[in-house]
This record gives sequence, C-alpha cells and structure tokens, in this order.
Amino acid sequence: MKKIKNRAYFSMLIALGLVFGLCIFAIRLYANGKDWAMLRANSSVYDEGVLDTGTIVDRNGVVLAHADAGVFSYADDETVRKSCFHIVGDYTGNVGTGAISVFSSKLAGYDFIDGVASISGKGGKVKLSVDSSLNAIAYKALAGRKGAVLVSNYKTGEILCMVSTPSYDPNNPPDISTPAYEGVYMNRCLGATYTPGSVFKLITLSAAIENIPDLYTRTFTCAGGVSLGSDFVKCTGVHGQQTIEQALANSCNSAFSEISQELGADTIFNYADKYGFLKSLSVSGIDTTAGNIEKGEAGTSNLSWMGIGQYNDLISPIAMLRFVSAIANDGVANEPVILKNSHSASTRLMETDTAQKVQELMAYNVAYAYGQGNFPNLKICAKTGTAELGDGTSNAWFVGYLDDSEYPLAFTVVVERGGGGLANAGPVANAVLQAAVADS
Ligand SMILES: [Zn+2]
Repeated sequence: MKKIKNRAYFSMLIALGLVFGLCIFAIRLYANGKDWAMLRANSSVYDEGVLDTGTIVDRNGVVLAHADAGVFSYADDETVRKSCFHIVGDYTGNVGTGAISVFSSKLAGYDFIDGVASISGKGGKVKLSVDSSLNAIAYKALAGRKGAVLVSNYKTGEILCMVSTPSYDPNNPPDISTPAYEGVYMNRCLGATYTPGSVFKLITLSAAIENIPDLYTRTFTCAGGVSLGSDFVKCTGVHGQQTIEQALANSCNSAFSEISQELGADTIFNYADKYGFLKSLSVSGIDTTAGNIEKGEAGTSNLSWMGIGQYNDLISPIAMLRFVSAIANDGVANEPVILKNSHSASTRLMETDTAQKVQELMAYNVAYAYGQGNFPNLKICAKTGTAELGDGTSNAWFVGYLDDSEYPLAFTVVVERGGGGLANAGPVANAVLQAAVADS
C-alpha cells in the first residue's frame, strides 16, 4: 500500500513538472516567438538570408516592394524606385533603416497564433504613410544634388514625403565607389546631421520669447556686424534699426548675437535639448541620429555663432521637421511616423503662447522678406538657412509649415552645398507642397 502511495506521489510530481515546463515554454514562445520565427535560418521566411515574403505599399496602395518565392520586385516607376529607395530599403540589405529590414516581421506576416504567414502562403502587407508621387516630385526637384526632403501632416504626425539623395535605382545598382554616391545607403532625413545655419534662429528666438521680457519693445541695431573682443560677428547686410520681427526676417546676425549673449550658452543648449535636437528620436521604431551642440564661452563670438546656428551646431532634418510641426501645432509635436494609420504619440515642446508668437514671425518672414510670389497660393510660414561650411560652400535650408487647416503640412528641405536657402531649398519645398495641396 505504501509503495502504491509513493508511486502516486511520484507520478503527480512528474505531471506537475510537465505542466510547469509547458507554462515556461508558452511564456517564452509568447515573448520570443517573433525572434525565433524571424531567425535568418528560417527558410520559410528567408531565401539565402533575404526576406522572401511580403508587400510594401505607399499610402495610396502603390506597390513599392514585393517578395514571393525568390522573386523580388520594386515599384514600376523608375523615379519612384529611386525616390523611395531609403524609406523602402532593398532586398540586399544595404539600407539598414529601410522598411524591408525594419518591418520584416510584419512583412513575414508573423503573429503569435499562426507564426509566419508565409507557411500558409500569404505574406504580410506594410502600408507606409508616404505618398510615392510626392517623393518622386521631391527627387526631381533636388535635381541631382545631395540632400533631404521631408513633409508631414502636423495634425497626425504622418510623414508624406521622405527623400534622401544621392540614391539609385535598386533594379539597376550602379558602381557606388565614386564621390557622387558618397553615403548612398544612409537615409539623410533620419541619419545625417548638418550645420543648421539660420534655421537655428527659430530655437534661439523661442528661448528669447520666454526669457527676454522686453524682446518685442526693443530695437536691434545692425551696423554690419558686432565686435566681441578681438572677434567680429559679421552680418550678411547692414540692417540698421529693427524690431524682433524684422531681425528674424532679415536673419540679422547682429541681433541674434546680442540675443545669444544675453541668453547665455546654457539656456540655448537647454532649449535645443528640450526641443529634441540633441537626442535620438524614434520614427515608427527607427532610431534617428542625435544632433550635437557645443557651448560657446560667454562674451566670445563662439557663443554668438552657437545661437546663430554656426560654430559646432549640428542637427538632423527629422528633428527640425518635428520642431516646426510643434510650432505649427501650437506647441505640441505629433511624433513623426512612417506607417499609415499608426498611433502617433504627442509631446508638448513649448507653451502655446510661445508657439503662436513664433508662428506670427514665420508668417512675417514670407510677407516681408521671402516673397509670397515664390509660393503661389500657399499659406506658407517659413525660415531660411544658409549654413556656411567653412570652405566657401553652404548648406541651403528651408523649413516651415502651411497655416492651412485643410493642408496642415510641415516641411524641412536641406540641399547639401546648395548655396542660399531661399533660392535653392525654397523651390524644392514649393514644388512638393504645390503637389501636396493639388492632389490630396
Ligand atoms: Zn544685420
């Protein structure tokens, strides 16, 4: 009898052990199943290390990439292929931040119950927020120059246009060893940082609005530059007496030198940090490259140039897009996303009152200095930047948004070594925005 009792206990222990083991396995499957299914050794998902399933479409359903049973294809249109190269990525895996790599488990159709859908014969579909026809227009407008173009809806965070150049046709990869293809695998919108030049004045201005009480009643005088000890901060003109509105529209270095010295390096640095310029952001799970700012010493031209967007300032195009989106949206940034209908978190970057004051000045820039005629029928508010690179060339920047409830679009354009911001980046922004308001 005792023997039987012992056996019963022993059997129960074994049964309990099995149940316990099953529980552990179920938990691990739930936690790690996606990773296991997406291991490159899984031949039902990968063909010799290449993701072999799934379809990527743009916001209008245009197919941008498709893989099935060893056959890989991209968009039908050559310009669409080139302009979407970085956001889509390539099946050879050269573009690490492309949708093919980043959303591989979605493309494989992975879910917890069925595992990878290609086993049941249906790959997953990823719908991007971009409009591939806008990408094509931006690509053409860059006309062979290197740079980055971003347009988003500042009410939803959806990125409608994301183009990085140089690029190439993934159906016909060129010899990339020439300088024309320098950094061709990098999505400059997310991964590059640039000297911002005068677009940085929007950051310094926002800090000034909150920290200099008499900003709006003060007169800023420009005699062509400012002497600081033995240094000279040169202005691009001789602007005479100006209000803060005029100083921003003139992009006056004398005025912004005065403001920068008064704010101090810590304050400017802290505002740039608060606005997200100095940290890595996440765009639908893709980590972006953080910018960097070095503080100039009080009383030196380095501090002035720091607040003017020169010195050692470096920022990414995506951080600038997020910042102007927040200005347009009364201080709240809807975080940029590249997946259609994905949830966009929102972050307050600045007080409503500050945002509205910057809005007024950005509208004034266009009316007073840039010329509404350069942007027909667009309710555009903007800031230019001509960022000197120290070798006689400059990056052309044009950033801003449409003050238009029907077309709540924010934009950032950078043309590397493109020359003046208004003359060179302005027309790129105009071309894309005209198309965006025409067909949406
Ligand atoms: Zn000036």
